[in-house]
Amino acid sequence: MSGQFDYLVTGGAGFIGSHLCERLIAEGKSVFVLDDLSTGQIENIEGLLSLKSFHFIEGSVLSLETVEECINMCDEVIHLAAAVGVENVINKPVETIETNVGGTENILRAARLNNTKVLIASTSEVYGKSWKVPFKEDGDIVLGPTSRNRWSYACSKAMDEFLALAYNHSYGLPVVICRFFNTVGPRQSGRYGMVLPRFINQALTGQPITVFGNGTQTRCFSLVSEVINCILSLMNTPDAIGKVINIGSTEEITILELARRVREISGSCSEIVIVPYDEAYPAGFEDMQRRVPDVSRLVELIDICPEADIDTIIRKIIEYGIPEGAQ
Ligand code: UDP
Repeated sequence: MSGQFDYLVTGGAGFIGSHLCERLIAEGKSVFVLDDLSTGQIENIEGLLSLKSFHFIEGSVLSLETVEECINMCDEVIHLAAAVGVENVINKPVETIETNVGGTENILRAARLNNTKVLIASTSEVYGKSWKVPFKEDGDIVLGPTSRNRWSYACSKAMDEFLALAYNHSYGLPVVICRFFNTVGPRQSGRYGMVLPRFINQALTGQPITVFGNGTQTRCFSLVSEVINCILSLMNTPDAIGKVINIGSTEEITILELARRVREISGSCSEIVIVPYDEAYPAGFEDMQRRVPDVSRLVELIDICPEADIDTIIRKIIEYGIPEGAQ
């Protein structure tokens, strides 16, 4: 181990990334951040910028040269940089595919040069419309047609996983792949479509709470601080290397019920309105009906999983307040 920094965090100015950086710094680690500030924001890491143990550069994971320079300076990599949010994925399909596939390819290529350990952030989107709930890491994935943009995100992330596993298999590169399930918490913006910050913002500002579809679709929400506990613990678990691991809560809630909980907990008078999918999204959009992780692999490896219940999560986000321009 020879890097100047303990960790390279790509996407470190984003929602999960900035929480991760704060945690690492609080634990006495040194952190180097590479972020192109496309969806990440400098304000998220403002409090860290003056620290000696923290360094930020604005740049893209699409530059192999930049990525090589960054990885050379760090002992381990947590690769979070990606195109995020349903809105972005639908409106910027080229950027989504290129950033997710090309960026991860660069990270893996550069990591291989010094055999640097890499954690790759993947997503529950990869399961697509599989109905085999709860989703197990080795279960089949079921994607829609290539004419529907939404699936390009799932497919690009699946390709990241294939590539990371291939680097592990063919070159022995130590990789850990995490599939995140609807990670939420303070500081998350609703700007790119994420449902919980949107609902809370709507409730707090007296606007209608917009439930898309009929509201019977379900999700499991996990608190970012607990997801970070899992990420860091997995990084320190040799048995996690070469594996794909779900990280999520198992508390399943319908989106309509989520709207009701937000309304009640915030004491809001906002009405809950049902917005049909064809008004909410461009034509041809397909939503996932149920999305629940099987966390047995996670628990087997590190003995913990995200456990905060949805009411606690909503309260924590309300306490923090919704960032400006959240929607
Ligand atoms: N959703 C909603 N109202 C909103 C935003 C999203 O009802 O204002 C729904 C969306 O259609 C989906 C769920 O909430 O069924 C979760 O959406 P999000 O974009 O947060 O994440 P996803 O799990 O779909 O990636």
